[in-house]
Amino acid sequence: MGTKYVYLFKEGNANMRELLGGKGANLAEMSSLGMPVPNGFTITTEACNKYYDDGEKISDEIKAEIMEYLAKLEAETGKKFGDAQNPLLVSVRSGARASMPGMMDTILNLGINDVVAATIAEKSGNPRFAYDSYRRFIQMFADVVKGLSKKRFEEIIDEVKAERGIKDDLELNADDMKTLVARFKEFYQAELGQSFPTDPVEQMMEAIEAVFKSWNNERAIYYRRINDIPSSWGTAVNVQMMVFGNMGDDCGTGVAFTRNPATGENKLFGEFLMNAQGEDVVAGVRTPKKIDQLKEVSETAYEQFVDICGKLEKHYKNMQDMEFTIEGGKLFMLQTRNGKRTAQAALRIACEMVDEGLINSDEALMMVEPQQLDSLLHPMFEADALKKATVITTGLAASPGAGSGQIVFTANEAKEEVEQGKKVVLVRLETSPEDIEGMAVSEAILTVRGGMTSHAAVVARGMGACCVSGAGDIEMHAEEGYFVVGGKTYKRGDWISVDGSTGNVYGEKIPTVPAEISGNFERFMEWADERRVLQIRTNADTPKDAAQAVRFGAEGIGLVRTEHMFFEGDKIKAIREMIVASTDEQMEEALNKLEPMQQADFEGIYEAMEGRPVTIRFLDPPLHEFVPQDPDDIADLAKEMNISVDELQNIIDGLHEVNPMMGHRGSRLDISYPGIGRMQTAAVIKAAINVNKRHPEWNVVPEIMLPLIGDLKELKYVKKIVVETANKVIAESGVELAYHVGTMIEVPRAALLADELAEDAEFFSFGTNDLTQLTFGFSRDDAGKFLPEYYDAKVYENDPFARLDQHGVGKLIKLAAELGRKTRPDIKLGICGEHGGDPSSIDFCHRVGLNYVSCSPYRVPIARLAAAQAAIVNE
Ligand code: PEP
Ligand code: MG
Repeated sequence: MGTKYVYLFKEGNANMRELLGGKGANLAEMSSLGMPVPNGFTITTEACNKYYDDGEKISDEIKAEIMEYLAKLEAETGKKFGDAQNPLLVSVRSGARASMPGMMDTILNLGINDVVAATIAEKSGNPRFAYDSYRRFIQMFADVVKGLSKKRFEEIIDEVKAERGIKDDLELNADDMKTLVARFKEFYQAELGQSFPTDPVEQMMEAIEAVFKSWNNERAIYYRRINDIPSSWGTAVNVQMMVFGNMGDDCGTGVAFTRNPATGENKLFGEFLMNAQGEDVVAGVRTPKKIDQLKEVSETAYEQFVDICGKLEKHYKNMQDMEFTIEGGKLFMLQTRNGKRTAQAALRIACEMVDEGLINSDEALMMVEPQQLDSLLHPMFEADALKKATVITTGLAASPGAGSGQIVFTANEAKEEVEQGKKVVLVRLETSPEDIEGMAVSEAILTVRGGMTSHAAVVARGMGACCVSGAGDIEMHAEEGYFVVGGKTYKRGDWISVDGSTGNVYGEKIPTVPAEISGNFERFMEWADERRVLQIRTNADTPKDAAQAVRFGAEGIGLVRTEHMFFEGDKIKAIREMIVASTDEQMEEALNKLEPMQQADFEGIYEAMEGRPVTIRFLDPPLHEFVPQDPDDIADLAKEMNISVDELQNIIDGLHEVNPMMGHRGSRLDISYPGIGRMQTAAVIKAAINVNKRHPEWNVVPEIMLPLIGDLKELKYVKKIVVETANKVIAESGVELAYHVGTMIEVPRAALLADELAEDAEFFSFGTNDLTQLTFGFSRDDAGKFLPEYYDAKVYENDPFARLDQHGVGKLIKLAAELGRKTRPDIKLGICGEHGGDPSSIDFCHRVGLNYVSCSPYRVPIARLAAAQAAIVNE
């Protein structure tokens, strides 16, 4: 027998999600539980995939099977398509494996033509209802199947209302509805050069095809990308007998949740409207009633509904979101699914369901999306104010949180304004490390360029600052003190608001509320910690960030980016002196200035971490990032260094590289300037010795990490610098100190030769930002410019800098982990690229058997939960 592409609801069950989609599987499950579900059938996701494989054609084989199931549906319901006595009307709805609310298309009232409308009018005794359903169907069909503009239909409705001298849709009578049907058909014919299809089978086949097509509409593709849903899943299509909530006063329709989706309170929550169709509840023209009031309208329907809600929640062991319709006083269930909820609600529901004995703690852990926890850690916009605000542009949701402030264009302005007591949003074309202080004091950061691993994004996440990056529609005129977007000008000092969780930017002030962390949060995280195998470290460059990460549960630091420390105060001067030095003596002098400052930085971090492991990565970025670009700053530095502006300019020009991220950076700097490595080693070792003296109980064991290594000889060369310096400092100090030297794996060559590197490296940390950049050959700063075209072409489905490319980059990680362990079985393996805070990447790290993931402080709770889920799922 060939593949079965169609299933009656009664043939399926909840475990068949992959094939029947979420909606289809749950309709099947409710049917088999004996709940009142209108009959129907589901066309599988495999049929959708076949539709695309066949060049966007529903094959004859599948068409025949649909016809066979239509006949079964007719037999079940005793109704017939297009029948003049007892016509069958159906809804045709999408339903993917994962719920994608509102992303794909739905058509209601399908099966109506002139004959059927007349029959319904007569049988229901309600001609207005019959022709209202008919005109709604034409409207939906024209929009969804034929792509005609909705606007024209609304205009026609307005014209008829004007002719009749009425204002409200509800005042349109049966004849008006007939007029609408006629005019809609005329418009349809004029636009498409064909008449509106009268054959219900033709209507249905076209509608099914439109649902398949809607799997690849723009919003569905976008939704899939941000929710990690592969395009290969496809959507199922549900064809279901219509029941009508708008046939009279004993009819109605509504939506309800078994618990409150905003707070998690264990109380039925929902709304309904009598004499209405589903879209009326959503449209907001009439104010729906609270679900409790259904009691007053129909006690039997209400009690039956409450009973079903209880059963569904127990059955699915999760809070349910349901749609129902009442036709002639009789209740029908149209949908149930796990309800979306706020993070607060998610935690409360998870904890209370454990207390109620409904689920165990593993099930509770699986119920909360790790990413959601984030909203508990940052301030948020007031929900009501946000609803009223207008989006002026959208960029990448680079670092979550909400910030409102007055526009400033430079980091200095930000500092000055904040000192005056103002709140600011820093708007930049792109940020450079020099901006860090300005970023730290801003309510939010908005950049025109840059992707998810751009400097602005990485630094903002590290600080827990709200940031939207890559808002490419903004036309910057920073020098003149304004920017333009959507034809409007926003000047320095104007209020804007930035939502780092959605990427939305608003042209106005929106009040924020501080994040609330309830007791459930802690309890829940304890369950996660008991369950996870991966350790969670953090990427932190300052004692403040380190302390924050510890409060969020970090067990160590996986990456200290030492370069970030160089931008504070006098350090930038000293490093500039080092870069500009033309003699060994000058270099030495500059390094001697830097060493105690670095040592103090490291002591601060060791103190903040109270003995937890800390991996310090040596200087990484190309040196041009440290030199000034602004002519005034260049003049100042020249003066300070006692050289001419021209000489300095020559040095700066000499640092120019065509592709600096693939240039003179990482351990390559230590090969050229071994003094840097010596200075950093001395600073780390002295810091550890000092902290151990103050806190012998902590026993700090430095972990020195060398960046961008690609060859064993290179590693040996740089390691020798480190070891000689470290041993000398230790010997001079007269105390004992253990320390480890390891390498980052961020050049594909390092992954390929990991067995060799492991001879000398005591640990590996996968720097997946650079490893992704170099494996794809995509610049991590610019790929955002063309990746959208890759998404459209469905070559890549999401940003490999945000979500680890397990297929390609992951293969290198797996290989390197295996090779490394072969040489050194106890080698410690971690990841410190941005992927260390991404749940699907964390799952991969668990499967590969890494020891830890390291991520920015505000992602630590997310990583703890994701690691627990990985342990549960992969058990
Ligand atoms: C990396 O490349 O993944 C990494 C952590 O280093 P950086 O982002 O500082 O280059
Ligand atoms: Mg790197």
